[in-house]
Amino acid sequence: MLQQLDVQQELEDVYEKALRRNPGEPEFHQALREVFDTLGPVVARHPEYHEQAILQRMVEPERQIMFRVPWVDDAGVVQVNRGFRVQFNSALGPFKGGLRFHPSVNLGIVKFLGFEQTFKNALTGMGIGGGKGGSDFDPHGRSDAEVMRFCQSFMTELHRHIGEYTDVPAGDIGVGGREIGYLFGQYKRLTNRYEGVLTGKGVGWGGSLARTEATGFGAVIFADRMLATKGQSMEGQRVIISGSGNVAIYAVAKAQELGAHVVTFSDSSGYVVDEAGVDLGLLREVKEVERGRAADYVARRPGSRLIQGGRVWDVPCTVALPCATQNELDVHGAEALVRGGVVAVAEGANMPTTPDATEALQGADVLFAPGKAANAGGVATSALEMQQNAGRDPWSFSQVASRLETIMDGIHDECANTAEEYGDPGNYVLGANVAGFTKVADAMLAHGVI
Ligand code: NDP
Repeated sequence: MLQQLDVQQELEDVYEKALRRNPGEPEFHQALREVFDTLGPVVARHPEYHEQAILQRMVEPERQIMFRVPWVDDAGVVQVNRGFRVQFNSALGPFKGGLRFHPSVNLGIVKFLGFEQTFKNALTGMGIGGGKGGSDFDPHGRSDAEVMRFCQSFMTELHRHIGEYTDVPAGDIGVGGREIGYLFGQYKRLTNRYEGVLTGKGVGWGGSLARTEATGFGAVIFADRMLATKGQSMEGQRVIISGSGNVAIYAVAKAQELGAHVVTFSDSSGYVVDEAGVDLGLLREVKEVERGRAADYVARRPGSRLIQGGRVWDVPCTVALPCATQNELDVHGAEALVRGGVVAVAEGANMPTTPDATEALQGADVLFAPGKAANAGGVATSALEMQQNAGRDPWSFSQVASRLETIMDGIHDECANTAEEYGDPGNYVLGANVAGFTKVADAMLAHGVI
């Protein structure tokens, strides 16, 4: 057993060094801080982690790839974007994690996502390592032909670095079925291989049923299991959701299926309050078919309102599901949620809650599920897609959905049990970090110094 003081000093030293080595990457620093803050007891119990420099190795990605993505827009103008793939940790399996296309994407954001992904993937128990990638390309307002040319150029470089046993990317913000289709087509053309190199594929050509639904469904299942520890369930809860993309839409769907009343969604133009209950069919039509904006929903839904410039967290609720992007829920939002009577918060997005907001929620005894546990259903189902591809054996919707439910139950219980074992029952942040970290650390130890 290491002395507690030595452990805290080591964690601080590794963190400070990572900060110096990765300047100007606040999201990555924040993700490191959040994990390191909970690791003291586990590092104290395992002196071998210290002896083998596990922490120092874990904060350093195995490989980082940055590349030029030139393409020609519909007006014939040459555009240049930047592409990224950070292969963070392959101790547990091939690198796995999504691609994000959004103007905010930079190396620090990709690193924070890859670091988080490593622990999330460990929690699924599916034998997948952690990685993440993307580009500062903005698909909004681009024609299908422009998106296709961009994806083809992006894959022309990326294909050298990925493969079904090496690195298996998926979707994330701005990358859905359309983009995965164009990326897959170009990979196949360049390599002459039809393999499960990407997940989130169309169901007619290697995709898995229930993958589209998996992240949002999983987050709501996790919230339901947390509520059960307090003798409650999703039934009858008043729910607010941020975002209106893949995760948010299927969080709405699952919450409604479990008998909750969902009253909000949002996009970057504002948030919508629909007291009668969000109309899922209309939301899907506007967002998935028309690629429209929140205002297009409100125009066709009497009684709903679009609020611009405010924050969705001011709407009173008992359950909040942030499903848009990082740092969207700050301490003022958290205080508003507590005032509004929130009982549970489950992160559908990655790191949507700032550290002080998390503290405020936990301090007010709100059940709080971190994204690396609550949104792990997406990547877990991606791993099921890989299994189906490897076996050339597509499963039914109910087969995949029931595996998803079992996996989410398992993640919930593992986080809860680990928190209890480490003396802080109900602290899902600690439970998720320690459980995920231990699996990765033990595999790294077994592999030697690499
Ligand atoms: P989508 O692109 O499908 O949707 C993103 C939604 O969030 C849109 O409504 C978008 O609005 C909104 N949004 C994105 N960035 C911002 C911003 N800076 N400010 C305000 N609104 C914003 O992405 P996903 O639903 O796939 O991903 C959402 C979150 O979930 C991300 O954090 C992602 O990393 C995480 N996640 C996704 C998984 C998946 O399977 N898809 C798996 C695990 C985590 P607008 O269209 O106006 O930009």
